[in-house]
Amino acid sequence: MTAVATDRLIKPHGGTLVDRTGARPDGVEELERVALASRELSDLDMVASGALSPLEGFMSRADYERVVEEMHLESGLPWALPVCLAVDAAPSGDTVALTDGDDVRALLEVEQVFEYDKEREAERCFRTTDSNHPGVARLFAQKDLYLSGRVTVFERAEPAFPELALDPSETRAAFAERGWKRVVGFQTRNPIHRAHEYLTKGALETVDGLLIHPLVGDTKSDDVPAATRVECYRVLLDEYYPADRVVLSAFPAAMRYAGPREAIWHAICRKNYGCSHFIVGRDHAGVGDYYGTYDAQLIFDEFEPHELDIEPMFFEHAFYCRVCGQMATPKTCPHGGDAHVFLSGTKVRELLAAGELPPVEFSRPEVAEVLIQAYRD
Ligand SMILES: [Zn+2]
Repeated sequence: MTAVATDRLIKPHGGTLVDRTGARPDGVEELERVALASRELSDLDMVASGALSPLEGFMSRADYERVVEEMHLESGLPWALPVCLAVDAAPSGDTVALTDGDDVRALLEVEQVFEYDKEREAERCFRTTDSNHPGVARLFAQKDLYLSGRVTVFERAEPAFPELALDPSETRAAFAERGWKRVVGFQTRNPIHRAHEYLTKGALETVDGLLIHPLVGDTKSDDVPAATRVECYRVLLDEYYPADRVVLSAFPAAMRYAGPREAIWHAICRKNYGCSHFIVGRDHAGVGDYYGTYDAQLIFDEFEPHELDIEPMFFEHAFYCRVCGQMATPKTCPHGGDAHVFLSGTKVRELLAAGELPPVEFSRPEVAEVLIQAYRD
């Protein structure tokens, strides 16, 4: 395959796509080891691939402080969430081996070890210090110091879905091959129903291509399993989307459930994958009642115009309206709730668990069949 020029696409965050992969050096087995938690392993792999450009490793104190307080890196670039490595104690050497269990994955050139305030990080980043919040609970449970430094990753994470594992350089090449310039990214951690189909297609009408980029990293145990969701996307794309306008790939991030800040973080990551636009729905990356319905949209106003470069596309909750005779949202339909086909998440789960198809106005039957099968297993 010949290389395709990707210079028509949006530039990566900070201008250059970071590549922190490298060959395994001699002697790594003898180095002091730092075992990474699941979320940290996911961050490590995203640094390696450039998904977190311009980060080259785990954050320094200066970056961390400014991100927590002002949503910017020390350099002045926007950034919304800490990407930090928690440790018990300062390492003795200047290089440590980062491990996944017994497996050495990467080296870290020790830059700093610093204390941090978990309550403050929770309050600023999650807007709550309630330990019932899954992101806050993880933060409070983690080790008490942060270790910063540049990483070199010589063993990449084993992707959950190898055929969907595209690094930013690969999605960029895929977009360029198709001749796309303007690409909208869609983040999801749920099965796609008609509402999501409507907004992804609405967005696609205005750009060249669509990246369906489901999150397959760690989620809460009560979210629908990634394998089931991926199967839903496949059957939906096969039947209802033109193949030459859509790329399906897995987003390897772990959910933080940080709501508004995570929406910014997700947008910046998608910019690195080559998306010029990013869909932000209601309560993006939220959990429980911690965030207002539109907080994840409003937070984009806290940045200067064009500062993020990637353009957010805000969407309302969509439904089928019997009077309009089509999918619509409160923005485009004047009719009352009685005209709308609306099912609560609980109601949908009840139907599926009983082996019944939800109305076709709510779910494509092909998708519902996948979900019913998943409930049976
Ligand atoms: Zn209507």
